[in-house]
Amino acid sequence: MSIETAKIRLLMELRRQGITDTAVLSAIETIPREKFVTDTFFDQAYENIALPIGYNQTLSQPYIVALMTERLQVKDRMKVLEIGTGSGYQALVLAKLCRRLYTIERHSPLLEQAKARFDMFKQTNIVTKAGDGTLGWQEQAPFDRIMITAAAEDVPPALADQLAIGGIMVAPIGEDKAGQYLIRVTRTESGFDVEELEQVRFVPLIPGLPE
Ligand code: SAH
Repeated sequence: MSIETAKIRLLMELRRQGITDTAVLSAIETIPREKFVTDTFFDQAYENIALPIGYNQTLSQPYIVALMTERLQVKDRMKVLEIGTGSGYQALVLAKLCRRLYTIERHSPLLEQAKARFDMFKQTNIVTKAGDGTLGWQEQAPFDRIMITAAAEDVPPALADQLAIGGIMVAPIGEDKAGQYLIRVTRTESGFDVEELEQVRFVPLIPGLPE
């Protein structure tokens, strides 16, 4: 099967799974996912599965990328923060929908590869930082939207603090892989509203930096 055929099939599957936001679908259609995985997985780039990206990390399955992005309700004037740059794929999807995307990754070599991809695709509205994402990015706060792409037991307090009033955060929450849920947090004048979306499996959000 050619890449084009595989891509069309994937987009049809995402629609069947309930993704309706055309801006999200079009970002997935435009971005060559095969450029975000190692050559060994080239053939599987448009299957609806998570793929390894090195350092024990994974690029989420396209359905989860689409679902998280759709539920974040990103608009073109927004400032968005992503935690866990990984391959850079989700960052690129978000960057196509917002004004400026800030992304933090704790593994510098992964971040360097992701930055090379942002340059290759001439996506100039992405600002990156190597560091511990659980601390957020205080100098740039508040953010209209925050997406965490690794699972924590609870939302890191610094990230909740850095969400603008009216802002939305989407994150996988839960201790072990068996019990993780995607949640959507909306910040109100008086606190936070939390909705549970669906069960997911993510690699852990690890505080601090690698040795
Ligand atoms: N969004 C990525 C998915 C990456 S998997 C993509 O589209 O490819 C989750 C990523 O979160 C991993 O790269 C992992 O190194 C990173 N991560 C885990 N804990 C982190 C932390 N405290 N700060 C920043 N990044 C973290």
